[in-house]
Amino acid sequence: MQNTIGYAALNHTSPLVPFVFQRRELMAEDVQIEILFCGVCHSDIHQVRDEWGSGVFPMVPGHEIVGKVVKVGSEVSKFKAGDSVGIGCMIDSCGVCLDCLDDLEQFCNKAEFTYNSPDKHTGGTNYGGYSRQIVVNQEFVLNVSDTLDLAAVAPLLCAGITTYSPLKHWKVGKGDKVGIVGLGGLGHMGVKFAHAFGAHVVLFTTSSDKVEDAISLGANEVVVSKNHDAMALHISSFDFILNTVAASHDLDVFTALLKRDGTLCLVGLPDHPHPSSSVANLIFKRRQIAGSLIGGIKETQEMLDFCAEHNITSDIEIIPIQKINEAYERVLKNDVRYRFVIDMGTLKQSHE
Ligand code: NAP
Ligand code: ZN
Repeated sequence: MQNTIGYAALNHTSPLVPFVFQRRELMAEDVQIEILFCGVCHSDIHQVRDEWGSGVFPMVPGHEIVGKVVKVGSEVSKFKAGDSVGIGCMIDSCGVCLDCLDDLEQFCNKAEFTYNSPDKHTGGTNYGGYSRQIVVNQEFVLNVSDTLDLAAVAPLLCAGITTYSPLKHWKVGKGDKVGIVGLGGLGHMGVKFAHAFGAHVVLFTTSSDKVEDAISLGANEVVVSKNHDAMALHISSFDFILNTVAASHDLDVFTALLKRDGTLCLVGLPDHPHPSSSVANLIFKRRQIAGSLIGGIKETQEMLDFCAEHNITSDIEIIPIQKINEAYERVLKNDVRYRFVIDMGTLKQSHE
């Protein structure tokens, strides 16, 4: 075992504090990565505050990881020391079930998540990316292009794939009218991808001060969703709406905007259920409500390659790890444009 340092929540009410723990020694197929940057996802806050239940503490969050390979195991063929790489929300799965065979490891019943998930190798719990280094099987390590700003790539590992995957699954493209609900970490990536896929993009926001940003990110129109008249102009007109909101809210106002056979896909996972949805909204136009979970490793690599080709990254604010608790409060106050990314080098300076 090798000692490393990270930041952990010791329980669901404590702030994050420096925390020393062990990573496993390299096994034959493992890659050891020095973490350079880690994005701050709203899921980190949900889990650190134990809003989804079953949180295991101490918890080192972080699943938007970018770093450099420092060492590889004897059987590693895909990576070498010095490579720029990424780790997202998953670090292992069974490899043999139908989901794994379909490259949809995120749905595998034995998928191991990057943190707050049992570690089959040690019998303990996985610790995430708010740390100096991580050891991961090569099959769950992604290639990252050095042509992009590595700090701004980090959020692609969760916010990026979580929006890319449903837009691809529902075949969003030219000629489609697509809604993105919520301009946060996920939402701003959803706007960028839907725009890049050629759709007509409408951003729904509760924040009137985000209108100009949304247009510059690629939205064709912006609707402040509290404005009922503005919402009414879009009744029955959308092919697809991707809802990224992190809080419980009324879904009926969005299902009413779908065309016949249109889909409202939920990726936001609030701690409280949404108020019950109107069944009439669904059955009278055969509309659907669906959900989507991150994306498989193959599709995550496809997304990263697409981003390198089209020069797409996240809009970020870099913070030192010492500001992490403040950053959480700012996310909760909707005061982030549009993703915090931790410079993990700041952990080294102050604690090693
Ligand atoms: P975020 O950066 O905090 O963005 C959420 C956005 O939702 C806010 O920027 C805000 O946008 C809107 N919003 C917040 N409170 C609202 C309210 N009370 N009513 C209406 N809108 C509200 O969060 P994120 O990191 O993008 O994550 C969003 C959600 O997705 C979280 O629940 C997270 O756990 C989940 N998630 C799911 C997956 C998955 O695989 N399904 C993966 C990652 C994250 P406006 O100011 O524009 O209204
Ligand atoms: Zn996330």
